Amino acid sequence: MIIKFPIKEEYMEFIKKVEDISAQNIFSCYQCGKCSAGCPMISSMDILPNQVIRMVQFGNKEVLSSKTIWVCATCYTCSIRCPKGIDLAKIMEALRIIALREKKADFLKYSKISSEDIERIPQIALVSASRKFTVW
Ligand code: SF4
Ligand code: SF4
Repeated sequence: MIIKFPIKEEYMEFIKKVEDISAQNIFSCYQCGKCSAGCPMISSMDILPNQVIRMVQFGNKEVLSSKTIWVCATCYTCSIRCPKGIDLAKIMEALRIIALREKKADFLKYSKISSEDIERIPQIALVSASRKFTVW
């Protein structure tokens, strides 16, 4: 007998959006924790990478307000370690894209950065911020 757990439509909408953008099957994660065990950014995160995917499985949009999705360095360690072949780095990217689209995150406007700051801020930080914070 297959027991089905109904998921509210609003939750499913969010889950489907994450799956569409990341091209990953959210429900194939079985919470082994290997992704979190290998993540080099864990000490700066507020929730663990495996908890990120768990929140998405529940359709919990509070994950969009987490620090973790921005702290993720897209190093792909989790993606390589996952025994289910889930590319968690792509899920993190999908969540950043949704957060930016829903204006749950700030974004960088180069025109607002002073010339002094452009000289002061490390170039790598600008490139990184550009990738993560610019709306396209
Ligand atoms: S390693 Fe893969 S299956 Fe295990 S918790 Fe992380 S995403 Fe889920
Ligand atoms: S891609 Fe992000 S979540 Fe995955 S191991 Fe690297 S920093 Fe951690």
